[in-house]
Amino acid sequence: MRRDVFDSNLYSRSRRGYNPPTEGIEMRGEFLDAALLLVDIQNDFCPGGALAVSEGDRIVPTVNRLMPRFPLVISTQDWHPANHISFKERGGPWPPHCVQGTRGAELHADLKTGRIAHYFRKASSADRDDYSEFAGTDDRGRTLDEVLRSHNVTKLYVVGLATDYCVLETVLDGLKHGYEVNAVTDAMRAVNVNPADGELALQKMARSGAHLVTSDEVLNQAGSSARAT
Ligand SMILES: [Zn+2]
Repeated sequence: MRRDVFDSNLYSRSRRGYNPPTEGIEMRGEFLDAALLLVDIQNDFCPGGALAVSEGDRIVPTVNRLMPRFPLVISTQDWHPANHISFKERGGPWPPHCVQGTRGAELHADLKTGRIAHYFRKASSADRDDYSEFAGTDDRGRTLDEVLRSHNVTKLYVVGLATDYCVLETVLDGLKHGYEVNAVTDAMRAVNVNPADGELALQKMARSGAHLVTSDEVLNQAGSSARAT
């Protein structure tokens, strides 16, 4: 069934004329076991939100361009009760953000959700916080690792908000779970409580074994493999 979905997507892209069909065949080989993981691209982490990340919204067009290249796209959300332990009134580091059911917790409105196959939510009980999306569950109670394995995913491409917290911990956890992890550096933004935090997070990802890639490299990868055949 996934193959049908993917093929119809290729068809619509080639109808628009910017990808020869052969590229799709190669891309499928390259990316068949890959998933694009959208970390917490929510209103509260974008300008105007309760815990705004500078330029957080700027990643949305890039993420939208990446999505059609992947057979599997998964989205996550920070999803807190109103009395969450990470909030300042309970001694936590953050202002209230991503409160369940509020507009701030919704995905950014410009994000094209049509290709998102699974939605995960994390940190949804009052007394526990988590930055890694591997701590979340989907609407059937499954963990991210379970769903990725059910799709035979071995490679993760991670984008989203914020580089120095949830993206970082998700990348590190992905490596611990045995995935090849690629961090798409121009499709993420950092909180930067300290100005270098984002850069330090990228360094930590790389030191831990993640690949730092750009969206252009991901988008071109399929094209270059197609030309090689
Ligand atoms: Zn949070």
